[in-house]
Amino acid sequence: MKQKLERLLREAKSLGASDSAIISSKAILVKDDLAALCNGSHPCPNYGLAASCPPTVEGPVEFRKWQMQSDYSITVKIELPASVMFSDSRKGVMQLLHEIVAAVEQKAIEMGFGKSQAFAGGSCKELFCSDQENCCVVTENTPCRHMESARPSMSGFGIDVSRLMISSGWSALKAKDTALSDKDAASWVAGLILLA
Ligand code: SF4
Repeated sequence: MKQKLERLLREAKSLGASDSAIISSKAILVKDDLAALCNGSHPCPNYGLAASCPPTVEGPVEFRKWQMQSDYSITVKIELPASVMFSDSRKGVMQLLHEIVAAVEQKAIEMGFGKSQAFAGGSCKELFCSDQENCCVVTENTPCRHMESARPSMSGFGIDVSRLMISSGWSALKAKDTALSDKDAASWVAGLILLA
């Protein structure tokens, strides 16, 4: 088991993750109120636009069931200067995050973790299908155009990403928690692969 998990860590780093960690799946904190923010008083502009965002995704209730069937998870982070997150390069970074977790998920499945599932951040509609009018999964019930890359956002499942970072042994502080004017401040984006 240890060797398999370490291979997945190496896979994530070889694909471009700044770091990757093994955590207990039971350490993932899922909050209903975080998932509710997607359609809260300041709704996400991507709410309802893609199969991988609420209300289409299964949400916290189902995630907790999956969590109960999983012993270990892999977390990944990409560290970057805050200035990148406020630039045109943000989209490429978020696409890379999706691609990394999707590839590690597929590697985990090949290795025998056949029910593994990956989660990223940001809406796949915005990241992969911005040139399309609709998510074809939602409107036509046809397969995702980017199933090799696009994964659901952790937000729609209420996953507490700050807690995920701390469980991974990483700082949860982001540039927005420090001085916004400091464009060189460190920031990060994170993803998760639930192994099962
Ligand atoms: S078709 Fe596009 S918007 Fe729909 S789930 Fe796939 S990547 Fe996301």
